[in-house]
Parts: sequence; structure tokens; C-alpha cells
Amino acid sequence: MGSLAVSRLAVDDVLPSASVADQVADIARKNLAPLATTIDEGTVYPDELLRRLGDVGAWGSHQPVNGAADLRCAIQSIAALGEVCGATAFMAWCQNTLVWYASNSDNPKLVAKFADKFGSGQILGGTGLSNPMKSFFGIEKLKLRGRKVEGGYIVKGALPWVSNLGPDHYFGTIFEREDGGGIVMFLADCSDPAITLQPCKPFLAMDGTGTYGVQFRDVFVPDELILAEPAGPFVKKIRAGFILLQAGMALGLIKDCIQIMDEVDGQLGHVNRYLPQQPVQFRELHAEFEKETMALARDPYNADDSYWRRVVALRLRAGDASVAAAHAAMLHCGARGYLKSHRAQRRLREAYFVAIVTPATKQLRKMLAGDEH
Ligand SMILES: Cc1cc2nc3c(=O)[nH]c(=O)nc-3n(C[C@H](O)[C@H](O)[C@H](O)COP(=O)(O)OP(=O)(O)OC[C@H]3O[C@@H](n4cnc5c(N)ncnc54)[C@H](O)[C@@H]3O)c2cc1C
Repeated sequence: MGSLAVSRLAVDDVLPSASVADQVADIARKNLAPLATTIDEGTVYPDELLRRLGDVGAWGSHQPVNGAADLRCAIQSIAALGEVCGATAFMAWCQNTLVWYASNSDNPKLVAKFADKFGSGQILGGTGLSNPMKSFFGIEKLKLRGRKVEGGYIVKGALPWVSNLGPDHYFGTIFEREDGGGIVMFLADCSDPAITLQPCKPFLAMDGTGTYGVQFRDVFVPDELILAEPAGPFVKKIRAGFILLQAGMALGLIKDCIQIMDEVDGQLGHVNRYLPQQPVQFRELHAEFEKETMALARDPYNADDSYWRRVVALRLRAGDASVAAAHAAMLHCGARGYLKSHRAQRRLREAYFVAIVTPATKQLRKMLAGDEH
């Protein structure tokens, strides 16, 4: 499996921290590839590998410097992992998103305590923003509620799925103040005894991602864990990065689906050429997505509405293309890909996750239709 090498990027300048993405690709090929099946089966949550990726800088490249941030290296790193294992690409997105929240916070105590520990992978974790993201677009109500007390809030409620978690992990999420004072974004500390991680029923894929249902039973959230209050303007600041980082999952997966199609071309090309979708089309699509992603990823704080619509449109197309590429890979492989031992069927299951993780295809379509609440 080839890496998404910098020399092949369709960008007009040199990617910063290029060596980070190359090192991540190297770890993906050498260390992640042998684990991909066990992660998919849910028998392994690869925390050691995630920390190792932190050691080579995989989680720190997108931290803002002097008010500017560049997501390109982080996305290329997620793509390199996604070429090998969609579940690990998703965990990489979770970790990168956690870093993105902490390093953009205006709470100096929180930044000092957590930004570098998340950025280096010393502390792992993720994000519980699916419910809030859906609530902003009128799809569901906020599931967490907070009551103001001296030095912080008392939070209760439950989130059905949060990934890349473990007993000492953190994640960023949002509660609504019970007194009508708006929404607050905070870090949840999974080691708090008032927070319970409940194992989920087995999924179609993504079982090795440390995904749990999370219960908050009157959790005290001190001021030092508040990411943003009010959360509204902060969400506007981080939302493009949240979505753009997901493009890495799609880029890696589509690339491997092209490789799967290429691998069977020698034996089956004589008949596969009658299929309507060919690797060449997905190569073009991949190049186009990569170019658009890299262009948008250089400017994640752009507040223009036209920029936001480009981000949302790219995300929608990336989900559709992931499913289409994995579907085409299945048809090209035939019975070979129908074997449980072949990765084509894993790629198909992973592709559906790209299309359903928040913002899901249906939400993206609602957003583009302009139905923001
Ligand atoms: C493997 C996996 C990992 C995920 N990781 C995260 C994460 O790290 N952070 C995060 O914020 N979100 C996570 N999610 C949620 C994900 O981002 C989406 O929100 C979810 O897939 C549903 O999105 P949707 O827009 O299709 O909503 P829908 O499926 O249309 O509706 C979702 C709502 O329906 C209800 N619902 C439907 N099925 C069930 C069920 N089986 N159990 C309980 N309630 C149900 C719930 O109220 C839920 O909020 C994860 C989901 C999965 C499957």
C-alpha cells in the first residue's frame, strides 16, 4: 500500500510537517496493517498504537499558531491510516478533534493543562458532539443538562455513542444550562466516578474504536474543564475543522478501494471492464477531493458562508464517494471480496460509517437545503 506521499499532492506548495504524514504512513503499513482485522472484530482497541502515533506528531500538527491553523498534515495522516483501517482513521479523527477543541479554547487553564497532553497523545480521547451538532440543525434535542454551582456545573444526561474512550480518557461535548442560560462546551473526564462508560451492542464495523454509551450522573464539571461559554461562537469557530478532518477517513478508504480494484485487474479485467464504475473514475474523484480538501484545510477559520457551504458539500460528496468506491470494489472483486477474510467487505462496512457519522448524509443534505435552526 502506497502512502499519500507529499510529491503526489495536487497542491501548489509544500505541505508543512510532511515528514509527520510520511511517518504515520509508515506506522500504518508496518504496525497497523497486521492489527486491522482484530480492530475490526473489536478484540483490540489500539491505544498503544495511538500513543505511538502521538510520538511522531500525528495529533499535534493542526494546533493553532499565532491565530492560524493548517489541517492539511492532520488530514493526510488520517488518510494514511484510513488506507489501511477505517476504524483507526476514525479514532485518529476523534483524537485530532479533541486536540482541535482544547487548543482553540479561550480558557487559559484548560489550554495549559490539556492542549499539549492531547496533542502529544499522552492523554487520549474524543468528541461527543453528534447530539449537539444534530440539535443545532433541529434534528434532535440536547441530551445533557447542566446546573450552575459554585466553581462549575453539575451535569446529567446520557450520550448513546462516544468513541476513542477508556477509563482515563477525555472528550469534548456540550450541555444546555437548566436556567435557560444557553449552551456550554466542556471536557468530560472519564475517570470521574459519576461518569459511566457502557459497552455498546456490536456494530457492523468500528467495534475496536473504544465506543461507549456515556452516562453523566450529577457530574461536577469544574471551571477548569469548560472549553467555551457560551458555546455558540466557539462551535462556529471549530465546526469547519471538525468536518474537514473527516475527509481524511474518506480519502484513505477510497484510495484503498482503488487499489483493491487494481489488484484484481490482471485476472478479472477482461470482464470487469463491463462494469459501469472503473478505477480511473475513482482516481479522478480522489484527486479532485484531495485538491479541494487541501485548499479548504489551509483556512479552517474562514467565516464566509460560501466557504462553509464548500466544506459541507465536500463532506457530503466524500460520504457518497466512499460508499460508491467500496461498492465498486466489491463488484470488481466478485467472490474473492465476498470472503470474510478479504478486506473488500470490511471496506464496504467502513464506508457506510463515513456516510452515517455526524454530520450524516441526511443531515448534510438538510444543511445544504438551508434548514438551520
Ligand atoms: C460506531 C459508532 C461510533 C460513534 N461515535 C461517536 C462519537 O465518538 N461521538 C459522537 O458524538 N457520536 C458518535 N456516534 C454517533 C454518530 O455520529 C451519529 O450520530 C449516529 O450514527 C446517528 O446519526 P444520524 O444522524 O444518522 O441519526 P439517527 O440514527 O437518524 O438518529 C439518532 C437518534 O436516534 C436514536 N437511536 C437510534 N438508534 C438507536 C440505538 N440503537 N440506540 C440508542 N438510540 C438510538 C437516538 O436518540 C439517536 O440520537 C457514533 C455512532 C456509531 C454507530
